[in-house]
Amino acid sequence: MQINNVIYIVLLIHLFQYDTLARKYLKYDLQDFENQLDNIRKRFETFDLENNEIDRNGRADTNRWNQLNDNEIQNMPPIDDYSNEKTARHWLQWYSRISQRYYQIDTVLEWNYETNITEENEQAISKQSLISSPFDRLSLPIAKRFNEHMKYSRDEDLRVSFGRLSKNLISPNDEDVKQASKLSSDLSRVYSTTKVCELNNDEICYNLSPYLERLMQVEKDYDRLLWGWQGWHDGCGNNIRPLYLPYIDILDKNTKENGYKDLAEYWISDYEMGNDTVFESIIDQILQDIMPLYEQIHGFVRGRLCEIYPNRFDCNGPIPAHILGNMWAQQWHERLDDFMPHPDTPLANITRILEEKKYTIKHMYRISENFFTSINLYSMTSKFWSLSMFTKPPDRDVDCQPSASDMGYHNDYRVKICTIVDEDYLYTIHHEMGHVEYYMSYAKQPFLYRDGANSGFHEAIGDTIGMYAISPAHLIKLDFIDEETITRHYEMNFLMRMALQKVVFLPYAYVMDKYRFALFRHQINHDEELNAKWWEFRIRYGGIMPPVERNNRVNFDPGAKYHISTNTPYARYFIAHILQFQFYRGMCRLQGQTKRLHMCDIYGNKYVGERFKEMLAMGNSKPWSKVLETLTADTKLESQAVLDFFQPLHQWLKMENLARGYPVGWM
Ligand SMILES: [Zn+2]
Repeated sequence: MQINNVIYIVLLIHLFQYDTLARKYLKYDLQDFENQLDNIRKRFETFDLENNEIDRNGRADTNRWNQLNDNEIQNMPPIDDYSNEKTARHWLQWYSRISQRYYQIDTVLEWNYETNITEENEQAISKQSLISSPFDRLSLPIAKRFNEHMKYSRDEDLRVSFGRLSKNLISPNDEDVKQASKLSSDLSRVYSTTKVCELNNDEICYNLSPYLERLMQVEKDYDRLLWGWQGWHDGCGNNIRPLYLPYIDILDKNTKENGYKDLAEYWISDYEMGNDTVFESIIDQILQDIMPLYEQIHGFVRGRLCEIYPNRFDCNGPIPAHILGNMWAQQWHERLDDFMPHPDTPLANITRILEEKKYTIKHMYRISENFFTSINLYSMTSKFWSLSMFTKPPDRDVDCQPSASDMGYHNDYRVKICTIVDEDYLYTIHHEMGHVEYYMSYAKQPFLYRDGANSGFHEAIGDTIGMYAISPAHLIKLDFIDEETITRHYEMNFLMRMALQKVVFLPYAYVMDKYRFALFRHQINHDEELNAKWWEFRIRYGGIMPPVERNNRVNFDPGAKYHISTNTPYARYFIAHILQFQFYRGMCRLQGQTKRLHMCDIYGNKYVGERFKEMLAMGNSKPWSKVLETLTADTKLESQAVLDFFQPLHQWLKMENLARGYPVGWM
């Protein structure tokens, strides 16, 4: 009780400080201010969601937490009337306390496994999923019954919370839970531990990270690249295949048992962007809007590659996937040197500058943190610095896929990045730190609102800041380049670099879930077209083809991608790559810049930062379109922000492809 009061007071103080700051710029009137206070007061009287136990180690304690939950589950508040809002609120508090503890346990166990892949850590996850699933089975039907009434409630918190809770999935039997958990760990292990060996020496073998990833970025030899590409896709994809198919079968069965048509419908419901048809038509439209720009980029890149690798592939058709500077051909900027519009004024090589200035890995994290704090966002916590995994440990298997974790417990936020001192990782650090900034910004929300406005938002935050951070305008401030370096040619090269990272990613991200939706809907025959369908989509929507003949019965090339082997939805990245341009443009406008957006840098602008923070602090307490509106005045996803940014490049490409006689399109 006492602790709750303290939290309540701290919140009020915080709100006051925050509001005084914001008021200076936004001129909230007094009435507004009073209303906000009222709101938060009301919320925290009714939503007693804070976890009161503090473990003496400052970490969530698995055994103790399970024990506390056991006791609490025995004492579920009695329900005599599902339409009674007071009863509903009381039950929600009970539910939130328990699920918050389970969340804390799950994130710790996941962290332990991903940073130390052992049998023991795998079993801990599996064991825990059996411990917590009875609670899900108990609570979901109740949440659904409440929702029948609360969906008409005038109390927004109740309406939203029960609406979301009743979308959850439960598995009715332990056998499925065990099976799914085992398959999921196996998939993760295959992906993280697959090695590719030299052609004539199977004693020399390489992991994906860092060797193979790096090879695909820097190697230029067509056949060596082919070795890397094929080695990884055969080695990983073929072994993912027999695990992935039964895994999604269990999930499919499970989603149906929970009243969904299929897994696709379940994934789509998460975005709160309408039903399947509405959602997919929004995404389709955006891709269509972007396609003319993409085709010009594709045409230019293919034209250059045809000069570099003559007679290797049809210069009017799709591009082989292995020569674009990335294992999955999802971003092509690593080969910018070959696709530079004006090779006479090359872009600053950030990797080289980092090396010349003798920047350490720690420095890179400080550069990123400094950007966030310059706009009044948060410094990283002491636990962030002491508990994150910043480099690949030499002594054990880990999952090197960069990620950020909200451990949900007393300022414990972490990243896991096998960092190398180079430009790509500098960007990745901004991306992951963006997740952490979001976690910290909405930490004061009730537990059920501590999430991105939708999952696309979460992926867009760090990317937005990263775009400013590598902009020519900012590199001058970092003393990486001189002001005189920036010319029209330099700017065009920079736009090309960004397009190779951001625009070409869109068709790729689109296909990732287009393919899986088709698979989840049983529209793909496993024996006849499991792999071929993937390439059919990649050719149709991106003009990218496999570099060698593939075998439908053994190969599973989509499985050679992390987010497929871990069954992570991907439309969120598509959405994020649109949203980040809306955030970016919105913040430049707040700063008064509407033209030459690529030369905009909000570094040090505390007013703009406060507005950004205001949006982040909302978590998912409001519909995402409202959240978006607070920063950008936009209320929907729109491709125009991307097109605005790249407009000068698009013009240039149309002229240049024509002048060089490079064909455009591939069908
Ligand atoms: Zn991310």
